[in-house]
Amino acid sequence: MQTYRNTLNGTLVDPVSCYEIFNPANGQSLGMAPESDEQEVDRAVQSAKLAQNSWAKQGDKERRDVINRVAQILEENSDYLAELITREQGKPLSGPGSRFEMQACVGWTQVPASLDLPPEIVYEDDERKDTLHRVPLGVVAAIAPWNWPLMIAIWQIIPAIRMGNAVVLKPSEYTPIATLEMVRLINQVLPAGVLNTVTGDGSIGSKLTHHPEINKIMFTGSESTGRRIIEASAKNLSPITLELGGNDAAIVMPGTNVKNIANDLFWGAFLNMGQTCACIKRLYVHEDDYDAVMAELSAIASQMKIGDGMDESVLVGPLQNKMQFEKVQELVSDAKTSGCDVREFGEVPDQGYFMPLTLVGDIKDGQRLVDEEQFGPALPIIRYRDLEDAVESANGLDAGLGASLWADKPAEASKLATRLEAGTVWINQHGAIHPMVPFGGNKASGYGVEFGIEGLKAVTQSRVVSLKK
Ligand code: NAD
Repeated sequence: MQTYRNTLNGTLVDPVSCYEIFNPANGQSLGMAPESDEQEVDRAVQSAKLAQNSWAKQGDKERRDVINRVAQILEENSDYLAELITREQGKPLSGPGSRFEMQACVGWTQVPASLDLPPEIVYEDDERKDTLHRVPLGVVAAIAPWNWPLMIAIWQIIPAIRMGNAVVLKPSEYTPIATLEMVRLINQVLPAGVLNTVTGDGSIGSKLTHHPEINKIMFTGSESTGRRIIEASAKNLSPITLELGGNDAAIVMPGTNVKNIANDLFWGAFLNMGQTCACIKRLYVHEDDYDAVMAELSAIASQMKIGDGMDESVLVGPLQNKMQFEKVQELVSDAKTSGCDVREFGEVPDQGYFMPLTLVGDIKDGQRLVDEEQFGPALPIIRYRDLEDAVESANGLDAGLGASLWADKPAEASKLATRLEAGTVWINQHGAIHPMVPFGGNKASGYGVEFGIEGLKAVTQSRVVSLKK
């Protein structure tokens, strides 16, 4: 059985201890993952600290060239890594699955390599000239979740190293293998120590974020862990980027042609079996359009093949882990016992964490499936009569990652858009992120943004040089 290894200072290290990783589609063993201890966390941070100085001193062009070579490595190994993602995380190879995740990894590497943050003259008169420089922060702790393990790690790693920081990445304990392999491969072109990994559960994440040499924390995960990250950051006064959970509302405006939008609504909700931070998690539909929306979504859901994502014809895989599987089941059974209209679609294999695609009607705000982040393939569809009530419902929860409005006349949706309390409000699309467009949450979905120029700024500190003329 293969044992996967952490990369420290450019070298693969033999694990202190290991645990076994299983395929969520069939329970088969995928190999052993390493488990770091406190000493290994310290070695990883020290490696990053040592490497960071010379990395930051390299010219901008050199760093950009190295990152473009990282993109090439990702591209060359995308079939291998996509297969590992499918076996470990569960999302299918096909459709918006693991090959799609690898394309995103390449794009989110190439774009930061193409961007610049040159010094900016922020003020000048006859007496003075003030220039703002963006300098690296130092060592970045990157803590990733299990839903899009490689893509989210890339979102954290690439802007950080582009701007001259070094990184210690901790993948989720549920999905370490593909990430470790990606890091091993891209270390072929990175100077030793610029990108290191440690592995293990939240206790190792906690040791990393509390380490005295950490200068910035990039965190993507749940709100409850996010609060612990904030506490950890107090130790070093490290700035943080917090990408937390969402409970995104989508509002279909009255009279919208449902046929035109049904496919995008479906994938907006069921991408990665709903295990996506910015998936549609509550769908608000005008009472006159409710039956049409139910019928269109049901028709799409009933055509989807659920199964092991290594099969090219499968578009819907299993949930990633038992904890998540049980949580979604619990929310659906709560809806069933409350008398909601629960409609389940798709033939589900006997083994693995598979669930039918589930549409839940006759449900209201205040019920668990609406108010709690399900992070799974069960979509509550809520009727509204007055559009103002739907806006109020959309804004009624603490989460504020994304939201969307769906309309035949986008101009009408645009008038409403800024009233929705979310980091991104999409019109006639949902979750349509782009490496040039800042992405981040409002309210309890976190703070700080990733992507584009704003994302690069977030992994730097400002240094003003003020000259008396
Ligand atoms: P999680 O918070 O359980 O774990 C995320 C990571 O944090 C893991 O690597 C975990 O080991 C680590 N961790 C746990 N406790 C820690 C601690 N005390 N200190 C440091 N690290 C610790 O989240 P998850 O279950 O892996 O991911 C699902 C959640 O992530 C959902 O709520 C989802 O909405 C959210 N998410 C948000 C985004 C976004 O961009 N906003 C993207 C993906 C997922």
